[in-house]
Amino acid sequence: MQIVFATNNLNKIKEVQSIIPNHIKLLSLKDIGCFEDVPETQNTITGNAIQKAKYVREHYGYDCFADDTGLEVESLNNEPGVFSARYAGPQRDANDNMDLLLNNLIEKPNRNAQFKTVIALHLNGNLETFTGICKGKITQDKQGTQGFGYDPIFMPNGYTETFAEMDLTLKNKIGHRGKAVTKLIEYFNAL
Ligand code: IMP
Repeated sequence: MQIVFATNNLNKIKEVQSIIPNHIKLLSLKDIGCFEDVPETQNTITGNAIQKAKYVREHYGYDCFADDTGLEVESLNNEPGVFSARYAGPQRDANDNMDLLLNNLIEKPNRNAQFKTVIALHLNGNLETFTGICKGKITQDKQGTQGFGYDPIFMPNGYTETFAEMDLTLKNKIGHRGKAVTKLIEYFNAL
């Protein structure tokens, strides 16, 4: 079975392909010849995931799923949230985003945060959503070199290493996207 994962982020494709059953082959946007930016103009994480999945279905005719993720920081009124990718500006630079976040947390004792992933699936004319949450804390400094995005400053609860210091298998198991993908797989298995 082939299904489009509406992303060009190879890190994500790698993460998800390593969790799903082998008979499900993921296609990227590039694989289906989609080179334009898929619109994500909604003001919620769920809204963006649905918008992306619908776009691919409507413009390319493939069954597909799309994810949208945000980092919600308690003492910043759940920011950056839906703006996580472009928190520090349109250049979408992970280091700039982390620097701004660390700066905005100076003198804020509450460093609780959570990653939230919503996956929207368009399959056989139906639309379903699956949510995964990983709770943790924002560290004082960047730690680790693996992963992407905010991984170097996010330490999941119950662990003493950031996502960027963690083995990918463990990140998949306890992480937001892994949890949402697990729900997606349970749905596939129950079909
Ligand atoms: P997207 O919706 O998956 O594109 O994610 C939005 C933003 O959240 C991106 O800028 C990523 O840097 C960040 N992000 C998404 N997933 C992760 C993750 O697993 N670790 C760290 N940052 C992430």
